[in-house]
Amino acid sequence: MNLDLCPGCGRPVLGIGGQFSMLDSYYTSYLPEASRDANLFGCWHAACFHKEPLRGNWQQAILSNYTEVRGYEVVAELDSGVVLFLPQHGERVVVSPDAVVLDLSFDGGIQRRVPGGVVCRTLPSECSLQLDDEAVVARLQEQLRTQKKVPLMQIFELLGTADCVLHPEALTDSYFVWHKGLARLWEKQWVTANLDYGVFVPEELEPYLTRRKPRA
Ligand SMILES: [Zn+2]
Repeated sequence: MNLDLCPGCGRPVLGIGGQFSMLDSYYTSYLPEASRDANLFGCWHAACFHKEPLRGNWQQAILSNYTEVRGYEVVAELDSGVVLFLPQHGERVVVSPDAVVLDLSFDGGIQRRVPGGVVCRTLPSECSLQLDDEAVVARLQEQLRTQKKVPLMQIFELLGTADCVLHPEALTDSYFVWHKGLARLWEKQWVTANLDYGVFVPEELEPYLTRRKPRA
């Protein structure tokens, strides 16, 4: 799958936790008539969407969808976002003022403290990159083969989007990690590996962090 292009800057979006705002067209019905701008639909760098005047309307639209359709309850309204809870599954998510929806379940727990918050860890998950530039893909594959990992910030630099990364201090030990089974799937424009990364969570959200419960 090719990476989505940010409607704000036209550059690719690597959709990792806390770094993107997904503006799905199905949220449209919750938006005031005047703010239904189809040019905004798509996957944004959160940093780019932060500059959009309509961001507050989108936060509200997403919240309405989660509470009216999906059964989430509002737990807390904070500066960094509205915390929602799904009672059946114990799931907690936060919807930020920039329309970033972040799952507050981190199976890897809190890894360390940084100014203003904590760095949480997800479990490594599969991530594929399809890029037109075969030389870049070949370089990534070679680095994975020989060093077994590529720093995530290097991927953002290759994509030309390092300036869009929020809280880079959370990504200092985040990597694209070689995996034998996934490496068998590589092609000239395709590289897949495990993504192991940290997510910045503001201090005021720390009490709402949770571990994932298996869905029934
Ligand atoms: Zn952007």
